[in-house]
Parts: sequence; structure tokens; C-alpha cells
Amino acid sequence: MECQNYGLSRSIERENLNLNPLQRGGILPAAAREALYDFGDGYSVCDYCAGRLDEIAKPSINGFLEDLAKFINVDAVRTVHGAREGKFAVVHALCKPGDTMVVDGNAHYTTHLAAERNGVNMVEVPNTGAPEYEITPEKYKETLENAIDEKGEIKLALLTHVDGDYGNLTDAAKIGKICQDAGVPVVLNCAYSMGRLPIDAKAMNMDFVVGSGHKSMAASGPIGVLGMTAEWEELLLQRSSRHAKKEIEMLGCTSRGAPIATLMASLPYVMERVSKWDEEVQQARNFVEKMEEIDGVVQVGVKPTQHDLVRFETPAFHEIAQKHPRRGFFLYEELKKRKIVGIKRGQTEWFKCSVYGMTPDQKDYVAGAFHEIAETALD
Ligand SMILES: *Cc1c(COP(=O)(O)O)cnc(C)c1O
Repeated sequence: MECQNYGLSRSIERENLNLNPLQRGGILPAAAREALYDFGDGYSVCDYCAGRLDEIAKPSINGFLEDLAKFINVDAVRTVHGAREGKFAVVHALCKPGDTMVVDGNAHYTTHLAAERNGVNMVEVPNTGAPEYEITPEKYKETLENAIDEKGEIKLALLTHVDGDYGNLTDAAKIGKICQDAGVPVVLNCAYSMGRLPIDAKAMNMDFVVGSGHKSMAASGPIGVLGMTAEWEELLLQRSSRHAKKEIEMLGCTSRGAPIATLMASLPYVMERVSKWDEEVQQARNFVEKMEEIDGVVQVGVKPTQHDLVRFETPAFHEIAQKHPRRGFFLYEELKKRKIVGIKRGQTEWFKCSVYGMTPDQKDYVAGAFHEIAETALD
């Protein structure tokens, strides 16, 4: 048979400014693009493997994992295939079907699926509702204590460090302490934070942290990071009885080839950019301020924003859509004309966006484009 044409060409990122928050932190620096080329073949990191992926010395996966553990301040770290696989491994190792875990009400769908796939029930900590949708330590404590009273035992707690709906940054250190005081192991989901802002798992009182290479660590992925304190190494990294070198929960070897090579190549770049997080937040705030100068554009979530992912309610654009010949598509199309992409087609009531990693001029250009569209779309 002959294969169809799969349309495997992509210039979106080269030719446009992309506002999709999902994609801003996964753009590769030059060193990672080179690594992608060199390590594109299947098991390319396995040339000098003696049975343990995490101990390979050429390329220095062992050295890289040492650096990574220091970077996020954990005792042991493994790469996995994504933040979701990291969460799944923790839930799987700590819980049995029918057990209960506590999760925050802004948790990502992959948290819910990790619990479901393990047959684990969830008790949710509600957020504060509109307009902040905040997860507070007080509510977390109350929910956790009630859950312990009701169920007798809570096996695990999960906190989303920065959620993907509002870009709210939770008080991880405080909530971590609450969980530790209650004797409940806790995992911090850093998919939107590790690689963007500094993570210190121990200072945050966390037993586990997970990160996402393709979301926030400038890696091609799919790859995730699972860090833990020494206390959990034996359980999480238990070895097979048949294959003495292989860790069961990791199914032996995890990320190999281009995903891990790009993550390794990007680590110095990621360490450097994390140190400039405060600046990035300041620029996100400036961007929000410029956007809110448009009558009928309001940021929701905690204000001022503490993250580059921002969510706007945009009645201004929704109103235009009612009268515009292109209806709801006008916004996407007007942005596209200005070489801006990443807002979903047809969506005008609200949207999420991020200008993370763009130059100040590019950020101004994006805000300016929204102004122009708000003023002229119906002309
Ligand atoms: C994107 C995202 C994930 C999923 O990350 P993967 O690495 O693709 O599994 C999990 N949690 C949050 C909060 C996210 O934003």
C-alpha cells in the first residue's frame, strides 16, 4: 500500500507569535535542537548502557540526574514520560484500589485520570469561586481534616502548583506543611512551574514533585520529571525480582532517545531562565494591564497575576462577534492576519494566553493587536 500524505510540515512557530500557554515553555533553544538531530534515532542514548538508564555515563544521564535533583532539591529523581506518568506512578505506588486521596479543585484532568486508572477515590478541595478561583491553605486544611475524619485514612494528597485554567500559584509550602502535619504524603504537580520558576521541593514540604519537560522545561518530550525525598526511594524505585537492575514502577527504562537528550541539552538554559522569573511575572502583569485597558477585557484568577498563563473574560470581543460577518471566527482571523496564533478558533467569550519568553517588543505588539482589533473589527 501507499501511505497517505500526513502533512508533516510546520511553520506556525517560526512564522507567528504563538499565545497558546501550553506551548510557550516547550520551545527548544538551539542546543536542544542539535541534540534532537543527534539523538533522533530510536534507542540513541543506549550505546553505552549497562542495564540502568539512569546510570548511563555517555551521554551523562547520571550526571544530568544529579544536577536535576539539586535544581529542584530532591534526594532522588527519575525522568518519566510526562507529568501525568509521574503522578500515576506515585498514586500507584502509595494507594490501593478503593483508597482515597485529596486533590485540589483546580487539578488537571490528568490528576483525575491517574486516580481513576488506579481505582482511587478523590476528595476535592473547592476553590473560592469567581473571580479568583483560588485554592487556599485554610480550605485545603479543612477538607483534608474532614476527609481523614470521614474515611479514617487518606493515602495521598496532591496539590497543583500552578493550574492550567487560571494560572494561579498555590502556597505550596503552607499546604505541604498542612499535609505533613496530618501525616499524609503530598505530591506537588509542577507541570506549569518546574522550568519556569524556582522549585525547592524540601522548602515546600513536599514528598514528591512532578514536572513536564515539554510543558515548561524546553524539551521536545514527551518527558516528565519525578522527584522524591529519600524516604520514598525504596517504595517508588523498588527493583524487579527477576531483573535485578530494573525498577518496577518505571517499567525498567523510562524516557530514552530524543526526549531525554533535549531535556538534558536544555537544562543550563532552563536554570538560567528560572532565575529571571520575577521579571517574567512583572512583564505578564504589564501585559494584563495593557489588555485591561480595552473596555470589556478583564483578567480572572488571582490578581495581580503570579504567572504568565493568564485568563481573560472578554465580553468586548464577544459583543463584536454578534455583529461581525465572520461571527465568532473574527478574532482568530484578525489575529492570524497579524501573525498571532494560539487563541482557539471561534472562541470570543474568554480565552487563556501567555506571552512567556517573548521579547518586550513582541509582548507590546500582541497587546497592541488586541487593541486594534477591539477598535476596528467592525469598521
Ligand atoms: C499540561 C499539564 C499536565 C500534563 O503534563 P504532561 O507532561 O503532558 O503529562 C499536568 N498538569 C498540569 C497542571 C498541566 O498544566
